[in-house]
Amino acid sequence: MKRREMIRRGLQVGAGGLLSGGLGTTALAAAGQKPAAGPGRAAHMDSGLLARNIIFYAYDGFSWEDVAVGQAFARRRFGRPLRLDRLLKNGPAGSCETYSFDVVTDSAAAGTAWSTGRKTLNGLLNCYPDGEPLTPILEIARGAGRATGLITTTRVTHATPAAWCARVLDRNEEDDIALQYLAFRPDVLLGGGGRHFSPATRSDGRDLAAEFSAAGHAVLRTSAALQRTNASRLLGLFSGSHLPFEIDRRYQNARTPSLAELAAKGLEVLAGYEHGFVAQIEAGRIDHANHHNDAGAAVWEVQAADDALGVVLDFVDRHPDTLLILASDHSTGGGALHGTGSFYRDSSTAFERIDAHRGSLEHMIERLGSRPGADAVAEAVAAYAGCRLTPEQAALGARAFVEPAAASPNRTAFNDQPHNTLAYVIAGGGAGTAMRDRINFNYATGQHTAAAVPVALYGAGAASRRFSFIDNTDLFGWMCDALGVRHENAVMEPAVPA
Ligand code: ZN
Ligand code: MG
Ligand code: ZN
Repeated sequence: MKRREMIRRGLQVGAGGLLSGGLGTTALAAAGQKPAAGPGRAAHMDSGLLARNIIFYAYDGFSWEDVAVGQAFARRRFGRPLRLDRLLKNGPAGSCETYSFDVVTDSAAAGTAWSTGRKTLNGLLNCYPDGEPLTPILEIARGAGRATGLITTTRVTHATPAAWCARVLDRNEEDDIALQYLAFRPDVLLGGGGRHFSPATRSDGRDLAAEFSAAGHAVLRTSAALQRTNASRLLGLFSGSHLPFEIDRRYQNARTPSLAELAAKGLEVLAGYEHGFVAQIEAGRIDHANHHNDAGAAVWEVQAADDALGVVLDFVDRHPDTLLILASDHSTGGGALHGTGSFYRDSSTAFERIDAHRGSLEHMIERLGSRPGADAVAEAVAAYAGCRLTPEQAALGARAFVEPAAASPNRTAFNDQPHNTLAYVIAGGGAGTAMRDRINFNYATGQHTAAAVPVALYGAGAASRRFSFIDNTDLFGWMCDALGVRHENAVMEPAVPA
C-alpha cells in the first residue's frame, strides 16, 4: 500500500479510535517511523536562545497584503504605522511556508505544525490520521515547569488555541476539546465559546464552567469581572461563540472585552507564576473577516490585533526574559488592494471609502434575517457600507440569502454565503457596468490560500535567530529551544510531498 493511501485509510478507520482512547500505532510502525521521544534537557543547547516566558501571537488568516492594507489604514486613519511595522522592520522577521498534507492548510493542521513540529491532514489536532498522538507545546511547557495560557477572540475551543493542548481527529469536536481543557486546565483560558462549557448547550449536559470553578479557576463572563479579578487561574468566556468583530464593538455597541484587554489581564496573571509561562494569544477573526470577504471588518480586526500587540510589546519590554513569536497561520481570501484610475491616482480616494463601513457583514446579515427583499438589502448596505447598490446588485444580494450557489460569483471559491456575494456587490461587482465609487479592495476567493505569511520575533533570544524564509514546523523547535528542552514528535510524511 502506498503511504498516501495508508494515511487516507487511517483517517477513516481511526475516527472512533482516538476519542475512545485507542491510539493506533500500527500504521506508523509498519512504515518504520521513529517513535516519539520524551522531553528532556538537551546536552548542547544554545543558552542565548533561552527564555523564561514565551508569547506566541497568532494572527489567523493574515497575509502580506493584509500587512499593506493594515498599514495604509493605520497611516490614513490614525496618522501612524502599525506597531507591527516596528517588529517587521527591526527584525528578525521573514516569511513562513504554510502547506499541510492537504497543500492548502486549515488552522488545525497549521496550529499542529506550530505546536508539534509536524505537518498533518487538515482538520486534525495534534495527531496523525490513524490517531498516532503528537505531544503539543503546552504539555511540554508544563513539563518544563511553565504556567500555560490561551487567549483568543474566537471560541477558546476553536482550532488555533486547541492546537496548543487538545488532541482530536476532528477539530469540530469542540465539546470534547472543552473536556480536554478541563483535564489539562491551562492556567489562563480567555475568549469566547461559552456554549461548549454550558449544560444547556453541551451534548452531555455537563456544566464545565462549574467544574472549572470547583477545580479552582475564577469563571468570568464580563469585562468588569475580568478587570476586578485577582485570581491566579482564569476561565473567561465572554460570548457563546466567537467574540464580536472589532468593527461591531466600535460602531454597533457590541459589549465584550477587546483582545488588548484580554491580553493585558492574561499576561499580568501569567507573570505572577514563579517559573515563567507559555501563552498563545490569537487575533482569530482576521481570518473570519477575510473568509466573508468583509474588507471593513478585516481592517478593524488588524487594528485591534495591533492594539493588543502594543500591550504585548510593552509586556516584553518590561519582562525582557520573554520571547515573542508573532506568526500568521495562512492567508485567507487572497484580498488585494489594487491601483485604480489614471496613474493609480484614484487609489487613495477609493481606499478611504473603507472608513465609511459601520459594521460587519456578519452583523448586517443577522439584522436582515433569512429572506430580506432587495430594498432591505440596499438599505442595509447603505447603512453598513456607505454605498448605493444598483437594482441589479441589490437583487443579486437578496438572492444570495435564498439561492446562495446561484448568486455566488463562483460556486466553489466563494461559498461563504450570503457574505461573499454581498461583499462582491459592495465592491462593485454584478452591476452590469463598471462602478467608480467603490473601494479598491477585491478578494480572489472565500477560502484559505497557499501564500507564505509573515513571521517575526522580539525579545529574549530573538537576536540570536537569523532567518528569512522558514517552514511553519520550525517554530516548534524555536519554542523548545527557548524552553531549554528537546522533543521529537513521531514522523509521518505523505507519499506525495505537498
Ligand atoms: Zn487559520
Ligand atoms: Mg484560529
Ligand atoms: Zn479560516
